[in-house]
Amino acid sequence: MMDPKEMSNFIQSLTPVDVQKAYFGQPRKCMCGCSGTYSVNAVTGVDETYADNVNPAEVTRILRMIQAHEADAHVDDGYIVYADIGPASRKKAYCVYLDESRRVRDPKPVYANTESE
Ligand SMILES: [Zn+2]
Repeated sequence: MMDPKEMSNFIQSLTPVDVQKAYFGQPRKCMCGCSGTYSVNAVTGVDETYADNVNPAEVTRILRMIQAHEADAHVDDGYIVYADIGPASRKKAYCVYLDESRRVRDPKPVYANTESE
Protein backbone atom coordinates (compact mmCIF):
# COMPACT_ATOMS: atom_id res chain seq x y z
CA MET A 1 0.00 0.00 0.00
CA MET A 2 1.38 3.39 -0.98
CA ASP A 3 1.85 6.01 1.68
CA PRO A 4 0.89 9.61 0.80
CA LYS A 5 4.41 10.43 -0.43
CA GLU A 6 4.52 7.40 -2.72
CA MET A 7 1.01 8.25 -3.87
CA SER A 8 2.12 11.79 -4.72
CA ASN A 9 5.21 10.56 -6.57
CA PHE A 10 3.10 8.08 -8.49
CA ILE A 11 0.47 10.61 -9.56
CA GLN A 12 3.06 13.21 -10.52
CA SER A 13 5.03 10.66 -12.56
CA LEU A 14 2.11 10.00 -14.89
CA THR A 15 2.20 11.37 -18.42
CA PRO A 16 -0.55 11.54 -21.04
CA VAL A 17 0.81 8.47 -22.85
CA ASP A 18 0.18 6.45 -19.68
CA VAL A 19 -3.54 7.15 -20.00
CA GLN A 20 -5.67 4.55 -21.76
CA LYS A 21 -8.80 6.69 -21.46
CA ALA A 22 -9.83 9.73 -19.45
CA TYR A 23 -13.23 10.79 -18.10
CA PHE A 24 -14.74 14.17 -17.23
CA GLY A 25 -18.28 14.47 -15.95
CA GLN A 26 -20.72 14.78 -13.10
CA PRO A 27 -19.42 13.36 -9.81
CA ARG A 28 -21.06 10.32 -8.24
CA LYS A 29 -23.20 9.71 -11.31
CA CYS A 30 -23.33 6.89 -13.80
CA MET A 31 -20.05 6.71 -15.76
CA CYS A 32 -21.41 4.97 -18.86
CA GLY A 33 -21.05 8.26 -20.71
CA CYS A 34 -24.56 9.62 -20.06
CA SER A 35 -23.23 12.06 -17.42
CA GLY A 36 -19.82 12.82 -18.85
CA THR A 37 -17.39 12.23 -21.68
CA TYR A 38 -14.57 9.77 -22.25
CA SER A 39 -11.52 10.87 -24.21
CA VAL A 40 -8.65 8.87 -25.66
CA ASN A 41 -5.30 9.77 -27.21
CA ALA A 42 -5.92 7.58 -30.21
CA VAL A 43 -7.86 4.54 -31.29
CA THR A 44 -5.55 1.55 -31.15
CA GLY A 45 -5.97 -2.05 -32.14
CA VAL A 46 -9.37 -3.40 -33.07
CA ASP A 47 -11.29 -1.59 -30.32
CA GLU A 48 -13.12 1.25 -32.05
CA THR A 49 -15.46 1.89 -29.12
CA TYR A 50 -13.90 5.30 -28.66
CA ALA A 51 -13.41 6.20 -32.31
CA ASP A 52 -15.52 9.35 -31.80
CA ASN A 53 -13.70 10.28 -28.58
CA VAL A 54 -10.16 10.96 -29.83
CA ASN A 55 -9.14 14.12 -27.97
CA PRO A 56 -5.54 14.10 -26.73
CA ALA A 57 -5.81 17.68 -25.46
CA GLU A 58 -8.69 16.68 -23.19
CA VAL A 59 -6.78 13.61 -21.95
CA THR A 60 -3.90 15.91 -21.01
CA ARG A 61 -6.22 18.46 -19.36
CA ILE A 62 -7.88 15.82 -17.18
CA LEU A 63 -4.53 14.31 -16.12
CA ARG A 64 -3.08 17.76 -15.28
CA MET A 65 -6.17 18.64 -13.22
CA ILE A 66 -5.77 15.45 -11.18
CA GLN A 67 -2.06 16.16 -10.70
CA ALA A 68 -2.84 19.73 -9.58
CA HIS A 69 -5.32 18.36 -7.03
CA GLU A 70 -3.54 15.18 -5.95
CA ALA A 71 -4.86 15.47 -2.38
CA ASP A 72 -8.36 14.86 -3.76
CA ALA A 73 -7.29 11.82 -5.77
CA HIS A 74 -7.47 8.15 -5.00
CA VAL A 75 -6.44 5.04 -6.92
CA ASP A 76 -8.93 2.23 -7.43
CA ASP A 77 -8.01 -1.28 -8.59
CA GLY A 78 -4.42 -0.17 -9.15
CA TYR A 79 -5.09 1.71 -12.37
CA ILE A 80 -8.06 4.07 -11.99
CA VAL A 81 -7.05 7.50 -10.67
CA TYR A 82 -10.12 9.45 -9.65
CA ALA A 83 -10.75 12.89 -8.13
CA ASP A 84 -13.77 15.10 -7.57
CA ILE A 85 -12.46 18.63 -8.14
CA GLY A 86 -14.01 22.06 -7.82
CA PRO A 87 -16.04 24.24 -5.45
CA ALA A 88 -18.35 22.17 -3.22
CA SER A 89 -21.52 22.88 -5.18
CA ARG A 90 -19.91 22.53 -8.60
CA LYS A 91 -17.51 19.60 -8.32
CA LYS A 92 -16.64 17.64 -11.43
CA ALA A 93 -15.36 14.09 -11.73
CA TYR A 94 -11.90 13.71 -13.28
CA CYS A 95 -10.67 10.20 -13.90
CA VAL A 96 -7.88 8.51 -15.82
CA TYR A 97 -7.65 4.80 -16.57
CA LEU A 98 -3.98 3.90 -16.82
CA ASP A 99 -2.23 1.68 -19.29
CA GLU A 100 -1.37 -1.81 -18.06
CA SER A 101 2.31 -0.81 -17.84
CA ARG A 102 1.52 1.75 -15.12
CA ARG A 103 -0.71 -0.44 -12.99
CA VAL A 104 0.37 -0.38 -9.36
CA ARG A 105 1.10 -3.77 -7.83
CA ASP A 106 -1.02 -3.43 -4.72
CA PRO A 107 -4.63 -3.41 -5.90
CA LYS A 108 -6.04 -2.07 -2.63
CA PRO A 109 -7.51 1.44 -2.86
CA VAL A 110 -5.11 4.10 -1.62
CA TYR A 111 -6.12 7.52 -0.45
CA ALA A 112 -3.81 10.50 -0.52
CA ASN A 113 -5.94 12.42 1.93
CA THR A 114 -8.73 10.78 3.84
CA GLU A 115 -9.77 14.13 5.32
CA SER A 116 -10.76 15.71 2.01
CA GLU A 117 -14.32 17.01 1.60
ZN1 LIG B 1 -25.25 6.15 -17.78
